[in-house]
Amino acid sequence: MTRTPLRLRPGLRVLPRGDDAVQVGLDPRWAVVVEGLDPAEVALWCSVDDTTDLTSLTRASAVTATVAALRTAGLLRPDPPRADVVRGPTAGDAAAWALLRPDGAGESVVRARAAAVVGVVGLGATGAQVARLLATAGVGTLLLDDEAPVRSTDVAAGAHRWSDVGAPRATAVRRALRDVAPDVRVDHDAEPDAVVVVEHDAADPARAAMLTSASVPHLSVVVRAADAVVGPWVRPGDGPCLRCLDLHRADADPAWPRVLAAVAGRPARGTAPAGGAAGEVGVLAAACAALASAQVLTMLAGAVPALCGTTAEIGLPDLVPRLRTWSPHPDCGCTKPPGAVPAEPARDG
Ligand SMILES: [Zn+2]
Repeated sequence: MTRTPLRLRPGLRVLPRGDDAVQVGLDPRWAVVVEGLDPAEVALWCSVDDTTDLTSLTRASAVTATVAALRTAGLLRPDPPRADVVRGPTAGDAAAWALLRPDGAGESVVRARAAAVVGVVGLGATGAQVARLLATAGVGTLLLDDEAPVRSTDVAAGAHRWSDVGAPRATAVRRALRDVAPDVRVDHDAEPDAVVVVEHDAADPARAAMLTSASVPHLSVVVRAADAVVGPWVRPGDGPCLRCLDLHRADADPAWPRVLAAVAGRPARGTAPAGGAAGEVGVLAAACAALASAQVLTMLAGAVPALCGTTAEIGLPDLVPRLRTWSPHPDCGCTKPPGAVPAEPARDG
């Protein structure tokens, strides 16, 4: 009878900590120290890596005890079935999720993305990178929404190229995806599991209301001249929506609704005629795209993304995020069951 190989979860390293102890892993979320070993065991464990089949080591009882300790700590897993092994661009992603998931099934997290449908609205430098990151991560279908032409200000690393200038942004992204993720579907009519909305200066209340009423989970990314706000993730009916945030802002600044209306009524930066408004800053677009894409992939993995009810304000020059947590606004009514009587609007004292 053949035994299923048992290995360290992918990426774990065994490191010496002295004559009688080793450390497995470096990430404090799961690293463990194994003590009370003799020098020969320390040497043996330091020769082990994530490719070693530990069932071949377990003849000695001392080794068996250490294997059992590592198993209890959740650092071991049997090899996945051969058909489930992920190769290519998402192999590292599967290995990381094998560490993050209690069951170690990182491969299933990556494979499940093939059935996912994610919309990306707004395909300037930030949105184009979101599309590329999600497609190369294995998301099966992307709904791309932005027919404005690519401008020279949209050219950025991992986004649009000089040869795309003049083409509709969605067309340019589709063309780029053929190179990096040839299997992704972009011309498919499907209900999205989530939508990333990239906008400038403020989130459009009408679009937010439409997504909320359609019960579509959506992540807002608002790019401003020198910073951006990523989040919140809106899960309609569960936590604050974008209208809740605007109501909180209006509580703090009664003139906010007028300012918001003025912003919403103007063409977005980066879509103005040539020689007009500037586009998105390259490093800011990259940071926002990576954060937004990671939030989507977290949700697709069945976990609760950290930006549910929270915004990350990412500012130039150093892009270190500042988190702010929001609550549902009592006057919004978005978290009340359908048919509930809305609260009286708040009045300014
Ligand atoms: Zn709300």
